[in-house]
Amino acid sequence: MTHDAIVVGGGFAGVTAAREIALRGRSVLLLEARDRLGGRTWSAVWHGIPIEYGGGWVHWHQPHTWSEITRAGLKVELSEDAQRAHWWVGDERREGSIAERDAIAERGWNRFVEGVHEALPNPYDPLLAQEELARFDRLTIAERVAELELDEEERAVLEAELESVASAPLEDAGAVSVLRWHALSGYSLALTQYTGGRVMLAAGTGALLQAIASAAPVEARLDTPVAAVRVRGDRVEVETRAGELHDAAVAVVAVPLNVLGTIEFEPALSEGKQEAIAAGQASRGLKIFLRTRGSDVFDNAIRPRHPFGYLDTEVLLGAGEQLQIGFGIDAERCDPNGLQRDLDEILPGYELIDATWHDWLADEYARGTWAIHPPGWYTRHHAEMRRPEGRVLLAGSDLANGWSGFIDGAIESGLEAGACAVLNLRGA
Ligand SMILES: Cc1cc2nc3c(=O)[nH]c(=O)nc-3n(C[C@H](O)[C@H](O)[C@H](O)COP(=O)(O)OP(=O)(O)OC[C@H]3O[C@@H](n4cnc5c(N)ncnc54)[C@H](O)[C@@H]3O)c2cc1C
Repeated sequence: MTHDAIVVGGGFAGVTAAREIALRGRSVLLLEARDRLGGRTWSAVWHGIPIEYGGGWVHWHQPHTWSEITRAGLKVELSEDAQRAHWWVGDERREGSIAERDAIAERGWNRFVEGVHEALPNPYDPLLAQEELARFDRLTIAERVAELELDEEERAVLEAELESVASAPLEDAGAVSVLRWHALSGYSLALTQYTGGRVMLAAGTGALLQAIASAAPVEARLDTPVAAVRVRGDRVEVETRAGELHDAAVAVVAVPLNVLGTIEFEPALSEGKQEAIAAGQASRGLKIFLRTRGSDVFDNAIRPRHPFGYLDTEVLLGAGEQLQIGFGIDAERCDPNGLQRDLDEILPGYELIDATWHDWLADEYARGTWAIHPPGWYTRHHAEMRRPEGRVLLAGSDLANGWSGFIDGAIESGLEAGACAVLNLRGA
């Protein structure tokens, strides 16, 4: 069947792009591989507690997300401050206030980001000062840390903080991803922590997604993975894995960077894009929810190279039970049979009752968590990946200019792709 536009992928980017095109009176078909929209965001209920298996935190410094929240009339909730902080230096656990630990973290962090104002004077235009940026773009996070003079405690705390940002081994993740998050957060560590982990949608990210998806008439098909996107003269033909053919004047492909390589493009994407897709993004982390029994205190513990080395009390459930969220650098290192042992090795004194997580790394429609680009990405691949290929436009948070790796970046990219598709249709 023929449409004006086809959007492949129904995460925040795809849904936003589809809405933008439909709002301008064009017919849109949205093809989504899963049995739900939302992609790397997924609100669900576990033991009666609403949780976000994927992206969950939002912030008013994220302009596209905030504007959609306002439009949808949704409310947000702020999480509690940790009452007790723990950090590991080698095999020794130290305990204090979160302010004490943040003071240690900040000493290392400020050295890590030294030069960020010159490298990223406008974080929404990451290539504005390419020469200065290149100095950081060639480095992994681990290489950047190695350049710094730090004592043992500063290094351990900084590495644990960076692992929670990277969602990947520090040897794989590019240093610029950290600088970007920092720059977008007003060049401040405190705000970087705030934008990434304090403000949640009261009704869940699903409510925001639904508000965007229902704002304009879009024909959405679930359980419809796309196999190929082929340009045929002045049309684009999209073939699903089931062999169905759909046809439109323009296509927006809004699938994660790490799964783009599973879709056949004809003509082939530019060599530059193929190189970038082969490089991919480095995240391979874990977000795990632990129901535990132990205390009625908001705890926060960090330990580098631990399977979930950033652990935070999210909700006190009463009678010493709590919901904790852990972040790790490698989902493959999560041992479902060793969770009590792992918990003891970061925050002793808690009994594990149950745990849940979604393996985004193994998920064939994600292959990773939030975008953390490898070294060289910005100087070599960023601009090329954003360049339209005639009637075929790539979109997604992984390619965004601003909050890449966040819901905000997905909405930004969806807005851009939608506008570009409409221009393309006007010229068609
Ligand atoms: C564990 C985790 C925690 C996160 N935490 C936060 C956070 O707190 N705050 C924040 O802002 N962001 C967070 N993020 C990042 C944020 O969720 C993502 O950046 C954003 O949701 C990506 O949106 P997207 O539309 O670009 O991609 P996706 O959401 O991945 O959407 C792409 C869609 O394409 C579909 N697809 C894939 N292949 C095909 C195919 N062949 N055919 C058709 N469809 C296909 C997928 O199923 C998916 O629905 C987190 C992500 C994860 C995984």
